[in-house]
Amino acid sequence: MKHYKKVFLPEHPNAGTQGHVYEHRLLAEKLLGRYLTKDEIVHHKDGNKQNNCLDNLEVLNKYEHQKVHAQERALEVSGDASKMRCAYCKEYDLPSNMYVKKNVYQAWHRECANEYKAVKAPKTGPYKYRPRNFKLGIKHDG
Ligand SMILES: [Zn+2]
Ligand SMILES: [Zn+2]
Repeated sequence: MKHYKKVFLPEHPNAGTQGHVYEHRLLAEKLLGRYLTKDEIVHHKDGNKQNNCLDNLEVLNKYEHQKVHAQERALEVSGDASKMRCAYCKEYDLPSNMYVKKNVYQAWHRECANEYKAVKAPKTGPYKYRPRNFKLGIKHDG
């Protein structure tokens, strides 16, 4: 498994407990001429965490970063980058058919959400069914 390159720089304000800073973040900071905030993510455009070529780095906020990765996956899976994955049924669909969140790149079918709520908290009867892998959020992989 590939890891991010690190640089030993204990005097850096955002250095980790071992005194290391990620090289891609350091390079982006040099480019910007300022320190990055915790909310800024340095994205590797080609997906290769080791490729710290300046052309390959892009500073994004959390939302933009989620979006970039979600769109990559949408294109891969559905052939259309503009489609979004329903957080409940996991199917890709056009955002116009879904409820789209504002601050995070997430969407779902209203019917799916209603269905989930109906089974999640039944007022009566035994607890029977919960969709598997129900988890919002996008895994970062480069
Ligand atoms: Zn990324
Ligand atoms: Zn759905």
